[in-house]
Amino acid sequence: MTAPTRLIIAGPRGRMGQALLQMTRDSPGVEAAAVIDRPGAPAGTLRTAAALAELTDLAGAVLVDFTSPARTRELLAQLESSPRPAVIGTTGLTPEDHARMRVLAGAAPILYSANFSLGIALLADAVQRLAGILPQYDIEIIEMHHRHKADAPSGTAILLGDAAAQGRHSQLDLLTAHGRTGDTGERPAGQIGFHAVRGGDIVGEHTVLFAGHGERLELTHRASSRMTFAAGAVAAARFLAERPPGFYTLHDVLGLGAAGP
Ligand code: NAD
Repeated sequence: MTAPTRLIIAGPRGRMGQALLQMTRDSPGVEAAAVIDRPGAPAGTLRTAAALAELTDLAGAVLVDFTSPARTRELLAQLESSPRPAVIGTTGLTPEDHARMRVLAGAAPILYSANFSLGIALLADAVQRLAGILPQYDIEIIEMHHRHKADAPSGTAILLGDAAAQGRHSQLDLLTAHGRTGDTGERPAGQIGFHAVRGGDIVGEHTVLFAGHGERLELTHRASSRMTFAAGAVAAARFLAERPPGFYTLHDVLGLGAAGP
């Protein structure tokens, strides 16, 4: 029998941290070896550390981080001094943070995804294809999340926008428009519009709209449970535990090939 993959879960009291702990309890082949929490945080039944440096005995255990950009930056600094496999799902990170993860991937296997659901991975592939096939269609991305979400547009909306831009052999930052207000004038061709709706307890909803003359196509993904993301992250951790250093995406875990953002 192979040993279970050991996980170190950051942000254990958060919405995703709780979902990850539950998924770990329910999944054979993985175990939560420790959690990383603020110094002085109430300790639960699991071993609690304030920093990765306290967990040198857990060599090879996979860090799973769904926290905040500030916390992820702290954890990246800790990984730079003692590399270990890491699955990162925090959104709202800067291009510099992403570049830092790629450098870190020279020393340890690192996997980042702004969305750990299979449905979004497949949607991104479809969006990339359709954006190329329908070059004249206007693309708008509408996302909805719960009232507590700290960043906008969502990391997933940006992931989908990237897929659309790649499908048109362009770069998202050259095409982006965030919402519209005032005297906007005519919509420029090729623009990709983002609209963020916030309210209540919406787990996550993304619609990619392709608007043409006389028709429009709307592709919608609705997440109804955070357990979907937790399951994807746990699958990613199991995948990463057996990989050499390198930068990986959910496409690698799902065996979907190299395409996609
Ligand atoms: P949350 O606010 O419920 O939980 C965040 C956790 O991180 C809390 O436990 C908090 O104590 C901890 N934390 C935050 N800043 C910290 C700091 N500076 N020091 C120590 N601890 C700190 O948030 P959530 O809804 O669980 O989401 C967390 C992140 O995961 C967000 O960026 C969210 O957008 C992202 N997310 C990603 C996916 C995905 O599939 N990639 C899915 C859902 C959420």
